[in-house]
Amino acid sequence: MAELVTIPARSGKAARVSAGQRIKVINSSGTQVVDAWAFNALDLTEWMSMEASRAAFMKLAATVGDTFVTNQRRPIMTLVEDTSGCAHDTLMAPCDRWRYGLLGVEGYHDNCRDNLHAALANLGVVIRATPPSLNLFMNIPWTADGRLAWGEPAASPGSYVVFRAEMDLVVALSACPQDILPINGRSGRTTDAHFIVQ
Ligand SMILES: [Zn+2]
Repeated sequence: MAELVTIPARSGKAARVSAGQRIKVINSSGTQVVDAWAFNALDLTEWMSMEASRAAFMKLAATVGDTFVTNQRRPIMTLVEDTSGCAHDTLMAPCDRWRYGLLGVEGYHDNCRDNLHAALANLGVVIRATPPSLNLFMNIPWTADGRLAWGEPAASPGSYVVFRAEMDLVVALSACPQDILPINGRSGRTTDAHFIVQ
């Protein structure tokens, strides 16, 4: 029986996923961005690459049927279902302590970079780098002249995405703690999200 796993608000979770399994990530509140990473379980220096994936599917954001590839250009995850209606952002770096410093935060602020490494550590996994994230449910609209904006969430509660693993993976997910920019809503409320490996 597949287990529903909670990604607690402002924190991260990681899981091992076998080739052929599906990872369903649920935007339980409808307003929560979830940063996602995937690594080759047999070689953690091979990871899901946003820049190589855009070159593979030739879009700024994947749609159902598109396959993300690694920094070795090999298929790693395919988007097989999406009820969110979102163009999941591939452009923005995951938030980190320096980002919050630039936003005027003094002292520590939870962030996706630290959530990634903490979640991996709970699986006994250490990586030295922080790859670009796939920012699920994150609304970054673009204009014809290439300008970007921090959009508000556009998904509905309980909407989800499903990926098929194309190799044995370590997957990490972070419920983004961004409460200054409006990507999780103007209220600054950050919430739990959920996932299932099946
Ligand atoms: Zn974040």
